Amino acid sequence: MYQMQQGVWGLHEVAGSVGDIPLLDEVRGVGRSEKIEEMTTEMMAAVLYGKQDLRLERVAMPCAAAGELVVRVGAALTCGTDLKVYRRGYHAMMLKPPMLFGHELAGEVVEVGEGVSGFALGDRVVALNSAPCDACFFCKQGQQNLCEDLLFNNGAYAEYIRIPARIVAKNTLHVPQGVPYEHAALTEPLACVVRGLEESGGRAGDSMVVIGAGPIGLMFIHVAELSGLRVIAVVKRDDQIASAKLFGASEVVQIGAVKDVVAATRALTPEGRGADVVIEAVASPATWEWAVDMVRKGGMVNFFGGPPSGTKVALDTNRLHYGDITLKASFHHTPATCRTAFELVTSGRFKCAEYITGRAGLDEVPAVFAAMMSRAAMKDIKTAILPAGAPR
Ligand SMILES: [Zn+2]
Ligand SMILES: [Zn+2]
Repeated sequence: MYQMQQGVWGLHEVAGSVGDIPLLDEVRGVGRSEKIEEMTTEMMAAVLYGKQDLRLERVAMPCAAAGELVVRVGAALTCGTDLKVYRRGYHAMMLKPPMLFGHELAGEVVEVGEGVSGFALGDRVVALNSAPCDACFFCKQGQQNLCEDLLFNNGAYAEYIRIPARIVAKNTLHVPQGVPYEHAALTEPLACVVRGLEESGGRAGDSMVVIGAGPIGLMFIHVAELSGLRVIAVVKRDDQIASAKLFGASEVVQIGAVKDVVAATRALTPEGRGADVVIEAVASPATWEWAVDMVRKGGMVNFFGGPPSGTKVALDTNRLHYGDITLKASFHHTPATCRTAFELVTSGRFKCAEYITGRAGLDEVPAVFAAMMSRAAMKDIKTAILPAGAPR
């Protein structure tokens, strides 16, 4: 999971963008006698052509240059950010179609570039979707999530994916035997959530409100509960009530089932004073405003969901000032939070299996995204795309 942030995307080299997809026409140009060779140099991949135009195509097999790896994708997970890109047909500052798509993955190393140490053929790995430069102002400040030269990688909905050298060196981890690829692939979104929670200052025993019960909201609920916080979840759909409880919410407020969501939520906090921490994980102006109304004096709000650029919200300055309220937002992850998230996933403490509620083959990716567009019909938390084929 990563959110859009003004000023970050434009600067990086982006692997998986159009320059990296020699589509079939370019790959052809080989004679009939080279047919076998041609077959082994192509793979199936989902290519996004524009707004809600996702196609499964044969594209060139990636190969590993110096420092790089090629990974056979074991599992790639659907993500709200991918859905946003699919809905809009582009990522304003990151990717232009046609582009390879998908960024949460784990799989097996099938090619090792020159000079790579620490990885060998057959290794099971999770490769994160980005790596920082560790040289810019932000990296030196310990804010690698804001790196001015963050290198991104996309193209997880494919049989194979190339992992750029910097990600190999800084953000690729060995997956222990016994941890399924689809669980290991949760490392990336969870790393964003872990960082968001760390930055929000909640301690064991504190009360926390999480607004939103999509994959990210549900991960916040779970890691907060694992950290000893008492969580009140604010959800929309009926099925999200059970999900929120499953992942550790002690109380759930359903929007639409109560007259005043803010009042109902505050009533569940100690002495009705408001929550110590409020996490906004919906990305709408209304929920941003609710978050500020639900926090206690001296508390902290983390606007984790990123609404479209240009969105404005109205906040009561009186409440912010005299309430001594801290407002913050969180974006992306750092190598350290990736490792914390990976530890949670591989230790078995995090309920990975419960997040993967759907499975599909690569050929079904366009249909999965079409279904995700109508949220009511799409109840899955996350769908694992399994290029080897989904079990029936
Ligand atoms: Zn994601
Ligand atoms: Zn940097």
